[in-house]
Parts: sequence; structure tokens; C-alpha cells
Amino acid sequence: MMIDFEKSNGLVPVIVQDWLTLQVLMLGYMNPEAYEKTLEDGRIHFFSRTKNRIWLKGETSENYLFVKNIKKDCDSDALLILAKPTNSVCHTGSFSCFDEKNDKGFLYELEEKISKRIDEKTENSYTYDLFKRGINKVAQKVGEEAVELVIEAKDNDKNLFLNEAADLMYHYLILLKAKNFKLEDVEKILVERDK
Ligand code: AMP
Ligand code: ZN
Ligand code: ZN
Ligand code: ZN
Repeated sequence: MMIDFEKSNGLVPVIVQDWLTLQVLMLGYMNPEAYEKTLEDGRIHFFSRTKNRIWLKGETSENYLFVKNIKKDCDSDALLILAKPTNSVCHTGSFSCFDEKNDKGFLYELEEKISKRIDEKTENSYTYDLFKRGINKVAQKVGEEAVELVIEAKDNDKNLFLNEAADLMYHYLILLKAKNFKLEDVEKILVERDK
């Protein structure tokens, strides 16, 4: 189905969501021209009702929204765009127009960063250095961090426990990457089991 611009006077509402954490970033409107420009350019263009013209988000702030995926809703009169923000999305300086940056979902950002370090063979990166040492070494590190977590679980220091839990997750993500898997592959298994 085509996008139904007619329903609300030539404009469709567009919800923008962070492509990794799924945090809602902002709401804007598009007319057909803004939509076309967005598809051509890869950065979100809106129709600004205040300025009464096409508005490239980031045109002055350089805080662009790079399109990762565009979805229409059930009756094609609203859009959901998954985007990669450059920086703060809101003109107030806030990360999102609705909230500050979420901590929830950060694992996906970390997974992406780890993947980048490895794919780009980044020098002086602990992540890439460990990866280079091979899967056995990475797996061994996961084992060590798991043991450290077990030790801290027996103790009563909350801070040490949480830090070991974080170490384990970080190394676990490197192991997934080394095995060419994503966190989502693991989630899929867990979802299947829950059915
Ligand atoms: P920008 O597109 O980020 O260069 O910002 C240009 C102007 O657009 C700002 O001065 C604001 O008036 C407005 N603006 C920027 N970001 C937003 C937003 N997330 N929601 C509403 N208006 C915005
Ligand atoms: Zn709808
Ligand atoms: Zn805002
Ligand atoms: Zn540790």
C-alpha cells in the first residue's frame, strides 16, 4: 500500500526510534517531498509545520538522523523510522525529545562497538587485541570472568558483584562476535523455549 498522505492534509506523522536501543527519539511530519528526499539522501527530512518548508533534521546543528529502516503502520498513514542519531536529537540538547538517553538497550550499542573494533582492526583496542588471540583465548576469558562472578556471588560486596557481571557480559559479547553470532541469535533461542 502507498503512504496515505491525504488523510491528514498531505502530512504523515513519523516516529523516529534509535536503531539499536529502540528508544523513541522524536516525532515529526513528512509530505511526499520530504519522504522522497529522505529516501534519496539517507538522512531524515521532515516537513516543518513551523517553518512551512522541507527541513533536513540537522541542517544547522549537524545532528542528523541516518535512516536504517522505514516501516509503514497497518493502514499506511504513519511511519516508523529506525535511525542512527549523530548526537542529541532535541533542540533543547536532550538526547531524545521525550527523555534523556536510556541505559536500557546499551548492550546492543556495545555489541555494535565491539563489532566495529574487530572489523576495523582497531589498533590499541583491548577488544581487538583479545579477539586476535583467537576463539580459545576469548572463551577462556569468558570462563575466568564467570568464575570471578561466582566468587563475588558468595560475597556481599554489591559493587564487586556488579562489576564482575559487567565483565562477563562484555567478554560474552566478544565471544559471540568471534563465533559470528549476534545477541539476537541467542534471544531467538530463548524466545523459542518460552513458546
Ligand atoms: P537542526 O535541524 O537540528 O539543525 O535544528 C534546526 C531547528 O529545528 C532548531 O533550531 C529547532 O527549532 C528545530 N528542531 C531541531 N530539532 C528538533 C526536534 N527534535 N524537534 C522539534 N524541532 C527541532
Ligand atoms: Zn495508521
Ligand atoms: Zn525536541
Ligand atoms: Zn572480572
